[in-house]
Amino acid sequence: MGEVREQSGSGELDGLLARLKEYEGQAAATSGVGKDLVNEPMIRHWCEATGDGNPAYAGPEAIAPPTMLQAWTMGGLSGHTGRSSAYEGLFALLDGAGCTSVVATDCEQEYVRDLRPGDRVTFDAVIESVSERKTTKLGSGYFVTTRMDVYGAGELAGTHRFRILKYAPARKKQEKPEKPEKQEQDSEKPAEGAGPVLRPRPVINRDNAGFWEGVSAHRLLIQRCEECGTLRFPWLPGCNACGCARWDTVAASGEGTVFSYVVMHHPAFPAFDPPYAVALVELAEGVRMISNVVGVAPGEVRIGMRVRAEFRRFDPELELPAFRAVADGGGADGLHTD
Ligand code: ZN
Repeated sequence: MGEVREQSGSGELDGLLARLKEYEGQAAATSGVGKDLVNEPMIRHWCEATGDGNPAYAGPEAIAPPTMLQAWTMGGLSGHTGRSSAYEGLFALLDGAGCTSVVATDCEQEYVRDLRPGDRVTFDAVIESVSERKTTKLGSGYFVTTRMDVYGAGELAGTHRFRILKYAPARKKQEKPEKPEKQEQDSEKPAEGAGPVLRPRPVINRDNAGFWEGVSAHRLLIQRCEECGTLRFPWLPGCNACGCARWDTVAASGEGTVFSYVVMHHPAFPAFDPPYAVALVELAEGVRMISNVVGVAPGEVRIGMRVRAEFRRFDPELELPAFRAVADGGGADGLHTD
């Protein structure tokens, strides 16, 4: 087991942790300045994107939605202002220890005072804490918590506590097996001899488990709101039309048309054989679903093409719906290329 190895390396890790801990309390950014004054266009776009019609965010007395706090301090593509050498040093130390990847994990905000159009936003940030080494599904590394104090027109408007994981990615066997020749475009056959690389698993949770139970029974289930009857896909806990949380399901006929599509050539993901067609299929019932179009060369997929659902097994644990091109008025094999 890893115990023995960890023991021999623990002194080294403790040394690193001590050096990381020295950064706690140091400035992460000083006298940062927001790239734009608090302004109405950004507020309006935010409200449109989030569907927030609160009248407090419009008109001559408008305030900015408090949850926009971080929007005013973001560096954008051109980078951050005021980032400290301590913050850069902490990152360099973690990079040097092999923790080269980063993922944001969570944030907490506290609102003290309203921000209004015209306010100049400034901020200071401190490295609040660095965790002990933790092992996650992504890999092993350190949680770094930064607290940013955000000021509007010189007064504290709120705090933004932001946590990231700097980690060394868990090793994956992702090498694609050498193949003597390219598989046929219409990769209809199960991927025999394709090696150990499997398709990614769907993320199944309590909100969408019913859909996957349907798939395992070869039924394409659409959620239907019990209150207003609106159909929805993908599966969600509540109705977008009326907010009702009660629902039942209807089984789709499987008939549909290609609403939009892309043909993937690059990049080549393990377990996928480009080129292949990824389509947004509009089901006869009206909802749309992303899937593969099969039974036709990828380059021949067209908007409006009629398709029919089927279930394709990729490996013993994975079966997915796919849509087979059907000729107008013809059978399922009308556009078959093989
Ligand atoms: Zn509804």
